[in-house]
Amino acid sequence: MTAQQLFYEKKTGFDRLTDDDKAAIPAYATGYKQFLDEGKTERDAVKAMIALAEAKGFRAWARGDALAPGDRIYQVNRHKGITLAVIGQKSLAAGVRLTAAHLDAPRIDIRTVPLYEDSGMAFFKTHYYGGIKKYQWTAIPLELRGVVCVCHEGQVKTVEVRIGDQPDDPKFVITDLLPHLAAEQMSKKATEVIKGEGLNVLVGSVPSETVDDQCSEKVKLAVMEHLHERYGMVEADFLSAELCCVPAFRACDIGFDRSFVGSYGHDDRVCAYTAATALLDCADTPTHTCICLLVDKEETGSDGVTGMQSRAFDTFMADLCRAQDVLVEACYENSVCLSADVCNAFDPNFPEVSEKRNDARANGGFALVKYTGARGKSGTSDASAELMARIRCIFDQAGVVWQTGQLGKVDQGGGGTVAMYLADRNIDTVDAGVPVLSMHAPFELIAKLDLYMAYRGFGAFYRA
Ligand code: MN
Ligand code: MN
Repeated sequence: MTAQQLFYEKKTGFDRLTDDDKAAIPAYATGYKQFLDEGKTERDAVKAMIALAEAKGFRAWARGDALAPGDRIYQVNRHKGITLAVIGQKSLAAGVRLTAAHLDAPRIDIRTVPLYEDSGMAFFKTHYYGGIKKYQWTAIPLELRGVVCVCHEGQVKTVEVRIGDQPDDPKFVITDLLPHLAAEQMSKKATEVIKGEGLNVLVGSVPSETVDDQCSEKVKLAVMEHLHERYGMVEADFLSAELCCVPAFRACDIGFDRSFVGSYGHDDRVCAYTAATALLDCADTPTHTCICLLVDKEETGSDGVTGMQSRAFDTFMADLCRAQDVLVEACYENSVCLSADVCNAFDPNFPEVSEKRNDARANGGFALVKYTGARGKSGTSDASAELMARIRCIFDQAGVVWQTGQLGKVDQGGGGTVAMYLADRNIDTVDAGVPVLSMHAPFELIAKLDLYMAYRGFGAFYRA
């Protein structure tokens, strides 16, 4: 036999694209870019996803509602997570085809007591969310997004805040030091160049004209007057708010050939979008029930009521199973899950951290990742040989361009996904996702080929 027949080699995906794939990629990427610009927080991403789902005939479902094969349903978890399902021909006792991605992304959260004035300028104190290189978040335009639950005389009103995504909107910024005076700063380690307490967002500088002799902070007063006029807020309402700063860039094509999409938040909205749209586009009634789970809080460890470790998912699944008189445990043990999260793309500018034979490459296709974790495979579910075989056969049969992925050299670092929390529930689980360049930076990169092949891969998985 020839080497070509016997060897497994990392190849570019371009050699394996069909004409149909080539024709479909640009339009699919356009829809994805719109989703990215809309869904810059998990709340906004849930809203955008509801709109996409309802346009495809999905309806909100609650405990006790009837359930029949072919039903297209969704359920929202506290505005920050959403589960979409298409009920299959077989009983839930035969298990489900599950995909699980996350909608949260690294960002700069506004503190509970954020507003202060210093030297004629007003700032918000912040607390960064997720694993970031702090220095990357200075001197770039930021949007303010989120909600404030305004409490007034025992009444609560939730107001939405979204400033900076329209061309004429003002934006916000974290300042950095000029190089002329940065000799000491530049000699520091990158982790100390900008400190956590240094991530203060500039929000104003014009003093209030209100006559108030008691007030020495006129710029802060002017900011509060603006917030009160626009949102009915007083300073104490920050205590019941979830506001954050996210990059104000829009998603755009990168390269002469437009082969990449550059954007904030590919991790993990690229897998959320591909896993969800592959389900929304399931036109007929699948054999097995197909579920797409989009959760929050992955970037901070999947804790909390909207994270993957929450019982919210089990409760939803138990409710579904009860509608068919099936034990949820029986459903889980026959289920299969693609834990849909991004992996690192090999970067020729940083080859020293990668293991070329194993790490995924941009334009190599949808990446199947047997295990993540750190050190001696710590913090991973490590999919079985049997499951890997099952999934690679599905992809090959469907003509999906796919590759293997891993998280860099052994002992170089590492990371985890939600895979282990699904595996803990007695669900066979393997990681699969899109390779990303500059992951967790304010502006990340993915290849359109990989984006589209993730969509194709999730679709093949649901139908298998
Ligand atoms: Mn992720
Ligand atoms: Mn991440």
